[in-house]
Formats: sequence, structure tokens, C-alpha cells
Amino acid sequence: MNARIPSAELAAPADGVGCHAGRAQMQQAAQAAGNSALLQRYAADYPQGPHDQPQSMCPAFGSLRVGLRMRRVATVLSGSACCVYGLTFTSHFYGARRSVGYVPFNSETLVTGKLFEDIRESVFKLADPAKVDAVVVINLCVPTASGVPLRLLPREIDGVRIIGIDVPGFGVPTHAEAKDVLAGAMLAYARAEAQAGPVQAPRNWVPPARSGKPTVTLLGEVFPADPVGIGMMLEPMGLACGPVVPTREWRELYAALDCAVVAALHPFYTASVREFEAAGRAVVGSAPVGYEGTAEWLRAVGTACGVAADKIAAAQNQMLPAIKGALARTPIKGRITLSGYEGSELLVGRLLVESGADLRYVGSACPRTPWSAADAEWLQARGVRVQFRASLEQDLAAFEEFAPELAIGTTPVVQHAKQRATPALYFTNLISARPLMGPVGAGSLAQVINAALASKPRFDEMRAFFEGVGVGDCGGVWSSPPQPHPEYREFHLHKMEKLARKRKAEEMV
Ligand code: SF4
Repeated sequence: MNARIPSAELAAPADGVGCHAGRAQMQQAAQAAGNSALLQRYAADYPQGPHDQPQSMCPAFGSLRVGLRMRRVATVLSGSACCVYGLTFTSHFYGARRSVGYVPFNSETLVTGKLFEDIRESVFKLADPAKVDAVVVINLCVPTASGVPLRLLPREIDGVRIIGIDVPGFGVPTHAEAKDVLAGAMLAYARAEAQAGPVQAPRNWVPPARSGKPTVTLLGEVFPADPVGIGMMLEPMGLACGPVVPTREWRELYAALDCAVVAALHPFYTASVREFEAAGRAVVGSAPVGYEGTAEWLRAVGTACGVAADKIAAAQNQMLPAIKGALARTPIKGRITLSGYEGSELLVGRLLVESGADLRYVGSACPRTPWSAADAEWLQARGVRVQFRASLEQDLAAFEEFAPELAIGTTPVVQHAKQRATPALYFTNLISARPLMGPVGAGSLAQVINAALASKPRFDEMRAFFEGVGVGDCGGVWSSPPQPHPEYREFHLHKMEKLARKRKAEEMV
């Protein structure tokens, strides 16, 4: 195989840089290694700013997770050992229960092209059609910056598809968008297969031809019960719920492409939308959350599918009273700020507002896209500040400004809130992993949020009890109560001032 070999001067260092440093250096190396077009596409698909990169987990986790959740798909990582350790640790923390392949490298195998040969060899070993439908290879930061050419891998080995993607932290800002990188690559592959000839139906799939109903593909990972609820909502319009993308098996990709309309429930799937649009499918934004959100979503989906107005009204009339009832039965009272990096933050925000919460701020690490525009407008019209590509600093500033009674956010935001005796909930684990759609979603948030709001006295009690413990000079582990020695601080201050004066005097000589 004639792999392009990065020169020693241009190749990214095998270690020592990455998400903590050297972003510009990595980008420069990637450009020099022939990856300019890739970086330009990522810059267009996943626009950055107002700051460079949100502070969330390694973006490649999103791609890794999509591959690991699919049946008969093997995943191989190519990157620094420390990155791979973190990624495999996180994937098993989230219950992957699947091995992750790893092709190690060093400076020599990177610059001589041996790394590419090693990746190629591993792909041939894994591509057993009796065991897998596809093998995914993910280039992390250093191999991407060094131009390790996954595009030169065979497209197929014994009927097993080979998907090579680059997911560098300096090109893909969040793990949410990294899900799109792999989902988009798989859809592109499956679309080409469908264009070339007949393809297989998913297992246990009732084809639309048999049910006689056009389907709605759901774009975005949702709570397992949500597609069932959405299917019930669509029924009066003569529509059925299609697969959820990212899919759980390869064959579902064909069924996903063979839909009447795509519902971009999560708004950051830019590359996937591009594939659906290339297949001639219309894409509808937002999601059926709350009363107003569901009414508008049903109208948009029905209109995109050419459903008659009376049938759209029938679908709305079937669901909306139940949603209104659920919202009224489970009100939320309290001032809340919300932030996260899953992409569903604005949908949760809508549900909170319709539940009666005094929501002041929604921060999302994901960018503004056409498919979240209606949600952003809806929230802003109700006085909620919406911040796309929110940084940790912006989330914390919102907390300080609005002094919420409950902060829903990422780990550092929750930690910050708890230090101030404010109840807080993790968005990823406790909020985004709940049903959000239809009548079930309308009632599901209130229980956890009201319980958290009611825990304020407990926080006050804890703070009063632990006040001053483990802070400042008393931090650390002590065998006896720590004795502050302010005189030591004075002494060292004088010493350093004296040293500074001496240095200055020497400079002047
Ligand atoms: S692969 Fe992930 S963890 Fe490794 S340097 Fe890149 S962004 Fe950081």
C-alpha cells in the first residue's frame, strides 16, 4: 500500500500536545499533512466561536460511542495511549461492554508510515463477515495532525465495510458533533450502497410498504420510550416512526434513508442532514416537547409529508390535551439556570418553561443551527438568555448573575453550585437521559427537579456544618486540627518582595 508518509518535520509530536496545548501547532501540522480540506469541512459543519472550544470531554468519545452501540460493528482507535486510555475508560463507565481495538504508535511508526500499515493489518484481522458488518477506524488528534491516510484503507473486505474517520479535538468541538461525524460517514456509505442495488431490510422491521405508512426518521439519541410515544403521535396522520439515527445496526441506515421526512430532534447533525438531503428527504427541526412544541412539530411534520390539515388537527387534538393535563399536574416552581453539551438543552428549556419554571439561562456547547432556531426564538421570546457554544465561564457567570435556586449543568457547574449551597443536577446523567417527548415527557422532569429544589435546607445545613473545613490553609489531610500560621505567609511575602527588589536593582545596573 502506497501510504502518504508525513515528513518528520511536519508530523505532529507523538505525545505532549493535544487538548491541553498546541492546538495551533496541530492544525498547522494537519494542513501540512494534506488535511486542509477536512479541516475546512469541519469548520463549516461545526462552526466555532465565540471561543475556540467548549470545555467538555474528548470529542472522539461521541464517535466511539456511536460505533460501540451498534451490533456487529468493531471499532479501532488510533491515537496517543493516554487519549485511548481516557476514551476506553469513559466508554466502559457508560456500559459499553465491548472491546475497543487500539493500534499503538511511536514517533518512528508515525513518520515512516508504519502506523498506517499497522492499522491496515488490524482492519484485515477484524473484517470477518461472520462476526461484523463494519469496522470503524477513528484517527484521534496526533494521527489526524500527521495525516495518517485512512482514506487509503480498502472500502470493503469480504463484504465488511471499512469506515475511516478523523475526529481531532482541534477540528470537532464537542462529542455531540463527533457522533455526527460517524453517523454522517455511515449514511454516506449506506446511501451509495442503496444507489448501487437492493439492500437488506433491518431485522424485525415492518417495511413501510407492508404497513402502508411513510416513516419519520428520528435524528438524535433519545430515551428508548420516546420513539414509541412519537409513533402514537404520528398515527392519526397516517405516518409511522422510522429508525433512530445514530442507528443500532447497519441495516437500519437504509430504512432511515428510506423515510418521508427526517425529524432533527437533536440539532447538531450537520453531516447526517447533508446525506438525507442528498437522498431527497426534507428535514424538520425542533421536537414534540411540551404543548406548544408538540403542536408546532406535528404541524411541520404533517406539512412536510403532505398530510391534509384535518389529519394534522386530529393528531394535535389526540395529544395536546394529555400534554396540557400532565404539565398542569406537575408544575415546577423555582428559578433555574441550565447548561449542557448534549444538544438537547433547548428542548429541556422549553419543557421547564411550560412547566412553570422561572428559567433564566440556557447554555449549549453545540452551535446555532437551523434546526434549533425555532427553539431559541421561543425561549428568547419568554425572556430566557440562550447561549450557543457556551463556555464554562459563561455558564458560571450566568449562575452568579441569576442566583438560581437550582442549577442544571455540566460537572464543573454543578460543583460550583454545590459549593454555594445551591441544589444542582447533572444535565447528562439526570436530565437528558429522561423521556422528554409528548405527555410522558411533560411529567417526567418535574419529579426530579422538584425533589432537587426541595433539598435546599439540606445544603444549608451541610454548609453550616462544614463551614471553613478544608479551605485555604486548612486544606489537605491532617492528623490533628490544623493550626493556621499567618506569620509564615508574612515572612515569605517579605522574602519574595526583597528578592524582586534585588532583581530590579540588578537589571538597572
Ligand atoms: S484525542 Fe481527545 S484526549 Fe486526545 S488530545 Fe485529542 S482531544 Fe485531547
